[in-house]
Amino acid sequence: MNSLPSAEIIIVGGGAVGLGCAYALAKAGRRDILVIEREDREGAVTTSQGAGLCGQLRDSRERVELAMHSVRTFRELQVSDVKPDWNEVGSLRIAFNERRAAEFHHLVDVATEAGLEAMIISRSEASQRWPLMDFSSCTSIVWCPSDGYMTPSRVAASYRHNAAQLGVRFVPGTALEEVRIHQGRVSGIRTNRGTADCRYLVNSAGANAHHVSKMAGLDLPIVPVRHEYYVTLEMEGLTPDLPCFRIPEWTLYGRVRDGGLLLGGWEPKSLNVDPRRYPSECAPPPVVTDWPVLNSFTTSFKRLMPSADRVQSSWVGKGWPTFTPDGRFIIGESRRVPGFVMASGCNAHGISGSGGIGRLLVESLLDPNPGPYVRSLSPDRFTESSWSWDTAVADAARVYETYYGV
Ligand SMILES: Cc1cc2nc3c(=O)[nH]c(=O)nc-3n(C[C@H](O)[C@H](O)[C@H](O)COP(=O)(O)OP(=O)(O)OC[C@H]3O[C@@H](n4cnc5c(N)ncnc54)[C@H](O)[C@@H]3O)c2cc1C
Repeated sequence: MNSLPSAEIIIVGGGAVGLGCAYALAKAGRRDILVIEREDREGAVTTSQGAGLCGQLRDSRERVELAMHSVRTFRELQVSDVKPDWNEVGSLRIAFNERRAAEFHHLVDVATEAGLEAMIISRSEASQRWPLMDFSSCTSIVWCPSDGYMTPSRVAASYRHNAAQLGVRFVPGTALEEVRIHQGRVSGIRTNRGTADCRYLVNSAGANAHHVSKMAGLDLPIVPVRHEYYVTLEMEGLTPDLPCFRIPEWTLYGRVRDGGLLLGGWEPKSLNVDPRRYPSECAPPPVVTDWPVLNSFTTSFKRLMPSADRVQSSWVGKGWPTFTPDGRFIIGESRRVPGFVMASGCNAHGISGSGGIGRLLVESLLDPNPGPYVRSLSPDRFTESSWSWDTAVADAARVYETYYGV
């Protein structure tokens, strides 16, 4: 069997996360990197289905800073030869009750503390920014001018191109089959196309991240949960410069795409798959479009934008983003299996978070003294404690179902 080129760092999974990590590591001076991807091209699985929104308002300073780093990364890539199609159009966050309005004040305070510009604006100012929406019954609206959206497949292409410019190598059509361990630490891999030695193996295998961890003898609760959105046919008045929007009480988000309206949301009763129920060489079963769920998004949204009622859809985005029981990324090297490094469990913001995740991975691997936030994301929190799969799956589902919870 032919051998693959060996590398200091092998990254398994060429989605937004693996590619973002490759780019961040290469920028940090680590150039001996090989990215293996099972599909014929990178970015073809969950990443290709993303809605492409990037929001920076989060409930902790560290999470805001992570998102801000992603935005800086997208700006930087946007001036490269292959662009992620980053549109810094801003975002509106819309509340309809006082409790939510109080949360908005808190989010603005956290943003301000982190150095992110965000402010409460009036209903008339919001109307100027999104003329087709009727804001008359809103209680509070937050404007974040540096939020935006990108085209997920372009994000993948941009990371790949810019990482390759820095010397990163890519081998699509290559499936990881075995993680080789020598004297307790990672020493290499076996794939359908041969073997390769490495010092570090980064697991960014998306909905197969659980299986790849298992190959190294680690049990990690990374649970795929179904997610969907639709895009309408072109509608008059929808221009690409309109801000993204989020309506937490209705668990909806959206933006303009190709002259139509992209509308997605988080159902109160989610559908998940236990990753132990499908084998490592398979992705989760294909998502069947759930029209009652998608139609329920329209029913809610037309209260804010009545014209949204009249349009048909041109495209449905759907897939299995992964969730963790505590709703936090899993990033960093395992203490139990040195050389095995996680970059997964993205809780449905793996594209917008990819720039920040790359930075955290660099900090966890290359900084002799990583900060407390990075350490708190370590896979050790699951491998050094006891937990049950039933509870983990239920908790991960709850993270999805309460995505916009106060
Ligand atoms: C409908 C929908 C809307 C979304 N909207 C947004 C959004 O607006 N903003 C946002 O930030 N996120 C969004 N997300 C979430 C986002 O898509 C994911 O968080 C992100 O794509 C995860 O990237 P990834 O690289 O971890 O996974 P993937 O893109 O799935 O990449 C993992 C890769 O690993 C490969 N792989 C698996 N096993 C192996 C193996 N054994 N050997 C080799 N390769 C392997 C797979 O083929 C795959 O290409 C959305 C998701 C969905 C489904």
